[in-house]
Amino acid sequence: MSKKLETNAIRTQMERSQYLEHSTPLHLTSSFVFEDAEDMRASFAEEKQRNIYSRFTNPNTSEFIQKVADMEGAEDGVSFATGMGAIFGTYAALLDSGDHVISARSIFGSTHTLFTKYLPKWNIETSYFKVEEPESIETLIQPNTKILYAETPTNPGIDLLDLELLGKIAKKHNLILVIDNCFATPYLQQPIKYGADLVIHSATKLIDGQGRVLGGVTVGNSELIREIYLFARNSGSALSPFNAWILSKSMETLTVRVDRHCQTALATAEFLESHPKINWVKYPFLKSHPQYELAKKQMSQGGSIIAFEVKGGIEAGRDFLNALNMLSISSNLGDSRSIITHPASTTHYKLSEADRLEVGITDGMIRLSVGLEHKEDIQKDLKKALDTIR
Ligand SMILES: *Cc1c(COP(=O)(O)O)cnc(C)c1O
Repeated sequence: MSKKLETNAIRTQMERSQYLEHSTPLHLTSSFVFEDAEDMRASFAEEKQRNIYSRFTNPNTSEFIQKVADMEGAEDGVSFATGMGAIFGTYAALLDSGDHVISARSIFGSTHTLFTKYLPKWNIETSYFKVEEPESIETLIQPNTKILYAETPTNPGIDLLDLELLGKIAKKHNLILVIDNCFATPYLQQPIKYGADLVIHSATKLIDGQGRVLGGVTVGNSELIREIYLFARNSGSALSPFNAWILSKSMETLTVRVDRHCQTALATAEFLESHPKINWVKYPFLKSHPQYELAKKQMSQGGSIIAFEVKGGIEAGRDFLNALNMLSISSNLGDSRSIITHPASTTHYKLSEADRLEVGITDGMIRLSVGLEHKEDIQKDLKKALDTIR
């Protein structure tokens, strides 16, 4: 019987031990024992499904995978030590030398480095399309194109990609559609509904939600997942059972946390939009977002991340950060504590202004990851800092 998302995040059916525990215990063990030689043979031959070694599977990682897969409507999944482990593992498992990838230009920094610096070592090239021009994807397709890749909403520009359009293009040209769904979480957006074959999460962000553990997961089509699983178990970027236990616990509160993140983020985006020191604000569920209609169609709420531009360029951006009292200056996001970054003077400092603009990073642009503090305290801190910049 199919259940609602909120229930799927909580009611994962796990095996109980002889103690009949209600919530899942922590299984800190590197290996599992066999009854006899025949049991071990049959287990390695995969004639029976059971845990052998925690680099392969572990009850805690299985529970975590099951929760994400259920929420995303996926057949199966594989967990990894980090989000980047999931992205690299997915690519390494599915691509051969000579294959070609098409990706949105606005993607997470380390993913971009993976595509530009490392995949070419194995003769895998990537072509990029601008997020404002998804129609150009078809002009980039080559006979050897295998994967179409995107994030939506994008980081840090908060642009959206039309998942239905990407799904149609992927289907028409027989491409594997891979979506990094980190900003939306499995609660706000389920790309598989629109034709994604695989969905990747950095569980480090909103899935953990309290900035404590790293983790990653890829879910989707079971045949592809089987390939990714075999790569994962042989290459060793395994999620630790302890982190998986934390993440499963976090999944149970994901929907209530994300509801609050979204309510506070929308109120804060509206507050920022009305402030005279601000040029523009981008948040998917603000009516002024150029893709507001698309946001309403494919997301159930706007998420926790806001981009905005303070007047006065780089200096104003730095002054603004320095005038904050409570908000953390940190590079993480999706934490219970609100986090501010100024990409032009920090994460994207090395890029030329032209390169920054190409990925939507203007000099005065600020990224705000809205936490779970009271919205009045968040807005008070923002207002005080905005009032001090000249
Ligand atoms: C953080 C992040 C990643 C990488 O995840 P890690 O857990 O830090 O390895 C990938 N994609 C997006 C969109 C992210 O925000």
